[in-house]
Formats: sequence, structure tokens, C-alpha cells
Amino acid sequence: MSESPQPTLADSYDVVVIGGGPAGASVGALLAEYGHSTLILERSEVPRFHVGESLIPETYWTLKRLGLVERLRASAFPRKYSVQFFSEGVKPSAPFYFDEYKNCESSQTWQVWRDSFDEMLLDRAAELGATVHAKAQVTDAHFDGDRTTGVRVKVTDRNGERAEKDIACKVLVDATGQSAFLASRLGLKDTDPALKKATVWTYFENARRDSGKDEGATLIMQTADKQSWFWFIPLPGNVTSIGCTADMSVLFAGGSTAEESFNRELERCPAMAERLENATRVRDYLTTKDYTYYSRQGAGPGWTLVGDAYGFIDPVYSSGVFLALKSGEFAADAIHAAFEKNDFSAEQLGSWIGEHARGVGVFRKLVYAFYNPSFSFGRFLKMHPEFRSHVTDILIGDVFKPDFDECFAMMGDVTPPVPV
Ligand SMILES: Cc1cc2nc3c(=O)[nH]c(=O)nc-3n(C[C@H](O)[C@H](O)[C@H](O)COP(=O)(O)OP(=O)(O)OC[C@H]3O[C@@H](n4cnc5c(N)ncnc54)[C@H](O)[C@@H]3O)c2cc1C
Repeated sequence: MSESPQPTLADSYDVVVIGGGPAGASVGALLAEYGHSTLILERSEVPRFHVGESLIPETYWTLKRLGLVERLRASAFPRKYSVQFFSEGVKPSAPFYFDEYKNCESSQTWQVWRDSFDEMLLDRAAELGATVHAKAQVTDAHFDGDRTTGVRVKVTDRNGERAEKDIACKVLVDATGQSAFLASRLGLKDTDPALKKATVWTYFENARRDSGKDEGATLIMQTADKQSWFWFIPLPGNVTSIGCTADMSVLFAGGSTAEESFNRELERCPAMAERLENATRVRDYLTTKDYTYYSRQGAGPGWTLVGDAYGFIDPVYSSGVFLALKSGEFAADAIHAAFEKNDFSAEQLGSWIGEHARGVGVFRKLVYAFYNPSFSFGRFLKMHPEFRSHVTDILIGDVFKPDFDECFAMMGDVTPPVPV
């Protein structure tokens, strides 16, 4: 993508998508496939680095619709068959093998470098007919009353010259990730006081992996005092992504640096420390914080939000890329129907939001349970083995169905009511 020349931009498109991550690429690809003139504007050079390497199985269906499963099968991305949780820094629970509950083509997924995975998605969008422009930063959205009519974009053209351009569109899709371009401008963002989290993460070569089917597993390890947890995500080339998440006030307590925070928490997690004994860190420590938020509105006249631009819950269940792809798919179908009906109202463009929000709510409740100090998944599942398949369904991403009420009711008040 970075080596191909930048396209010449027209003055107007049916749809302009801001942001070329998984949400923007999927919505753009599917709209182009429907036959709508579609422009995807991505401010970075492509490929670009991004956190969020572990996929969950239900991503399969959007990837299949996009025609990308064979490319993923041919890739060097490690296969992921399970996720395994550890408590108190040492105690492993039985792995959740996805195929034990739903043995089908989607039961295996991948651990991906996001630069090449996201580039694969953008390349596919271009193959399906979308115009993809990297190094194109949207700086303003145009409105006629409350209806969006286009954007202003700063582009670097094929000669390396910087220029500004106004581009009109019938539908504007905000897929800007955590920048949440439209939701921020329209004052729609709400944070979640229960999830004020921060993460420090880095990459190691030669971290000890399990073998066989477990080699590509995601490991989630809570520390001894349950105040933080680590992820372990095996990547190609014997590199492993290792991150630690905790309340913001805990992770950087006493003004500790990223390295000090990481190492302090590692001491509380012997099971992770043991896997890193012979490993070499190959990148600086990276940090991010206060990333949980939701937009009060998912669509308006002429516009809709997808992926993280609409909201982000928490990294613990690796739901972000799945929800980005799924919302891209939902939104593409709603936008196509809008063109069919010549109806670009908030109701039509947001016709998918209710179903999506219910699925997000299911993940969110399980996130609250994970962080509740008095709740233990191990204890819960020992007492209620009949709900193991429900928990596995959520870990897989099979959340767009109404079957979870009884399971959450049994968990009790560890899961506060979630607005939908
Ligand atoms: C600590 C942490 C760990 C995570 N781990 C996982 C994981 O293991 N698995 C998982 O599935 N998810 C994970 N996630 C979440 C995941 O990274 C996101 O949910 C996912 O990237 C969302 O995709 P997106 O397309 O919505 O946004 P993004 O991937 O962020 O893409 C948005 C794009 O918009 C572009 N952009 C922004 N502003 C503009 C502008 N004004 N003009 C043009 N372009 C713009 C950006 O450059 C970016 O490329 C994690 C998140 C965090 C914070």
C-alpha cells in the first residue's frame, strides 16, 4: 500500500470513511462491493503500527465475507485455538478451547501483527473498488443544519506536496478509532467511571510458549493481589506481545515509569515471570490509558460511527477488532439500504445500532465481572458448570443472541445494569 502512488481525489463520493483501521476498511470494502463510490481516508502511512493483536473466532464471518480467510490461512500468523486464564499470579484454569463448544470452520482464529493485518484489509477494500488514500488527515466535517455533507482533508499527494481539499459525500462514516473524530466534535463521548484503566506493553523474543495446540493461545494472568493482569499473545517470528493492565491510579502509582510499573507487576505474577526468564525484550515499553468510552449516539443524519470511534470497552477479552469488523459490516448493510431507499436519516443509518449495542453490553458485563474483586470465574464455573458454554460463547464473540440473561442473573450484582 505504501509503495503504490496516492490516488487522485474526486470532489464527491457516495460515502467517505474517515480512518483505515479494521472498522473503516471493512465498511469501505463492503460498500465498494455494493457498487457505491467510496473513499477511505487514513491519516497515517500504511502499514502503521497498532496495539490489539489477538483475534477472537467470530471475526471469521466478516473476514470470510470480505474474502480474506484464504490469505489468513496462508499467512505466518499463529493459529489461536483457546484462551486460558490464570488467577493469583500462578494458578491456571482449564483452557477454553473454542472447538469444544462449537466445532466448526470458525473455531480457530489468529494472532496478528496489526500493521500487516490492517494493510491486508485496506488492500482488499481497494481491490473491491474503494479509493484508499493514506497520509490523508480529515481536519473538519461539513454540515448543512445537522446533516453531514462532507469533509475537509489535508493530503500528501503523489508528488509529496501537502494540500487541503473539500470533499462532498452523501454518507460520512467515522472510523477514526480512539480519536473519535465526530463523537468528540459533537460532544457525544461518555467515559465509564468503573473502567479507568491503563496499560503498559512491550514485545519479547523467546518467551516460553506451550506446545502443540496451545502454542498460539492467548494467556490472561491476574496478578497475586488481583490488582492487575497480563496478556501473553504469541506472534510470528517467536515474538510475544506482553501487556499489563490495571486501574490508572494503580499502574502508575508513585509516578513510576512504564518499565518500573511493568516490572513491579511482573513480580506479582510468577507464572508470567517464569515465561520471560530466557526472553529478550525487543521494543520499548509503550503505554495507553483511559481508553474506555461510549458515544451516546451511533448515527445521525448523513453520518454513522463504527469500531472504536463508537466505543471501546476493555482489552481483556480481545473484543476490539471483532466489534470493529462487525460494526463495519452492520453499518455497510444499513448504508446500502439507505441508498436503496434514498433515506439518509439517523434512524436508517443507525438501524443496526440496537443489535450491536446489545452484543457490546454482553462483553461489557463480563468485563465488569472480571474486575470485580469478589468474583472468581473458577468458583462460578465450579458451582455452575452449566454456564461454561455461555462464557465460552462470549469469549468466542457469539454475543448477538439473547441467551445470556440467566448466566448474568446467576453472577448477581458483579455485573451492574448496562444501558443498551
Ligand atoms: C491496550 C489495548 C489492547 C488491545 N488488545 C486488543 C486485542 O488483543 N485484540 C483486539 O481485538 N483488540 C484489542 N484492542 C482494541 C483494538 O486495538 C481496537 O478495538 C481496534 O483497533 C479498533 O479498530 P478501529 O478500526 O475502530 O480503529 P483503529 O484500528 O484505531 O483505526 C482508526 C484509524 O483512524 C485513523 N485516523 C484517526 N483520526 C483520523 C483523521 N482525523 N483522519 C484520517 N484518519 C484518522 C488512525 O490513524 C487509525 O489508523 C486493544 C486496545 C487496547 C487499548
